[in-house]
Amino acid sequence: MIIGFDVDGVIATAPLGLHNLLRKFQGLWNVILKSPMGALVYRHFRFPDKDVKNLICSLHSKGHTIIIITYALGDGQKKAVEWLKKNGVPFDKATAPKRGEKPLEFKCRAVAEENCDFFVEDQDILAQGISEKLQRVQVIHYRSVEDLSALKELS
Ligand SMILES: [Mg+2]
Repeated sequence: MIIGFDVDGVIATAPLGLHNLLRKFQGLWNVILKSPMGALVYRHFRFPDKDVKNLICSLHSKGHTIIIITYALGDGQKKAVEWLKKNGVPFDKATAPKRGEKPLEFKCRAVAEENCDFFVEDQDILAQGISEKLQRVQVIHYRSVEDLSALKELS
């Protein structure tokens, strides 16, 4: 299977449970990440969700393809890739948004181009939008590890 993962709010967790708050506000991640101070603080303190990381390791070792689809702008993409490597999260490919692409537009294009069977996304509006546009794909709206039961069966 080809499984796409969002990074922030799925693989990466913010300290103090901030990801739960940020998840509810569409675009707030991007506002934070666009501000130099916000990006610095977040990138310094984010840490991998242990359950999600273990699941990805297990899926990858079983031969499933892991695609990273994160709306990271500027050097955020490179930083996200470095962070994944540093934290031992295996993946086969990481995609980047094109200039001017909006988050939903980018994620729909990337999920379709990469032929993902599954896509894991934490923001409700994005999860719903991708699911409506790409009905062939099983979009998992991630809030807690229980939401990943379909992937656990593959691991
Ligand atoms: Mg996210």
